[in-house]
Parts: sequence; structure tokens; C-alpha cells
Amino acid sequence: MRHCDRIISFALIVIGIVILVGHTVFGLRVVHRNKIWIIGTYSFVVQTQSALDFLSECSPDTFAEIPRYIHLVVEFSKSGISPRYKVFSASKKTAFAPGRSQPVQLFWYAGAIVHDARHGWQYHNGLNIKSWDEKTVAEREIFEKDAISTTIPVLQQCTRYVPQFAQHEIADMLEQMIAKQNTCDYCNISWMDRNW
Ligand SMILES: [Zn+2]
Repeated sequence: MRHCDRIISFALIVIGIVILVGHTVFGLRVVHRNKIWIIGTYSFVVQTQSALDFLSECSPDTFAEIPRYIHLVVEFSKSGISPRYKVFSASKKTAFAPGRSQPVQLFWYAGAIVHDARHGWQYHNGLNIKSWDEKTVAEREIFEKDAISTTIPVLQQCTRYVPQFAQHEIADMLEQMIAKQNTCDYCNISWMDRNW
């Protein structure tokens, strides 16, 4: 057996053990959907799949673009994208907008996926290459405004796919997003202090 074969075999065994232990002890699930891997608890994986399904229905063009910038969605304590590795970490707060009904949660989560995929687009076009903490507040504002203004039209396109009973809620949500798009209220918060 060649040296690199041994390393690959060892890596596969380690990955297998991690998945097995994660699955049995922590209830982790691994799913592949539209060229995107999803790793997290059962409810997280289902919610992520549902948000992607929602996006595929309401904005197929955007949905088709997502795998270019996100290869893995993983449940984590904080939300954000590692654009180089195309890994989108999503917190429970992002995936299950607290206090919102299920259709509104999916609407919000789909928006977060589009938003962070846009950061991927920025990075791969050489525009947003520094990490969050390396950027000045002014630099963060530029890229956040760009991501928010890219997400708004997609969500506007998606509103008619939200059930009638939740229409007023998403209208409020969009209105707030539009009103705040030029004032990034989270741009002065460091990565460690994020609570979303
Ligand atoms: Zn952002």
C-alpha cells in the first residue's frame, strides 16, 4: 500500500467514525441536496432543505447560482460564510427565526442563504477577501449593503409563494430590511460577539 493510499484510508476511517459517533450520540444528519451538503441535527437539515426548496420554487435562477458559492451548510453557534471553502455556517436563530411562523422562518432563512452566497460572489470576484474582523466598519458596510440590496429583490420575488396568513409578517420584514439597508446596525459587532 502506497503512503498516500494509507493516508486516504485513514482519513476515510476517521470521517466514518466522526459521522457514526455524530449520528448516534449527537443525532447529526448528513444530506446532499442540489450539489450542497447539509450537516446538522435532524430539524436543522429538514429546515435547510425546506428553505432551499422554497428558493427553488420562487427564484429558480438564484437557486441555480447558490452551489457556485455554497458547498456545505453546517449548523453552528454563529452564522456566516467562509467564502474560500464555500461553507455557510447557520445558527438556530438564522434557520428558525425565533417567534416566527414556519413559512416566515423559511422566507428569512432563504434570504440568509442568498445574502451569504452573495458574500461568496464578492469574494470570488476579488472584492471581499478579508475576514470579518480584518475589515474596517466602513468596509463591512460596503459589502453588507451590497448583499442586502441583492437579497431584497429575490425576497420580493418570493413573497407570492408565502401563504396568505403570513403575508403581513413578511411585508413588515421586507419593509424593515429596505429601511435599514443603508444603515448596517451589526457592522460594528466583532465575529466573537455575534449572537445570530
Ligand atoms: Zn452579510
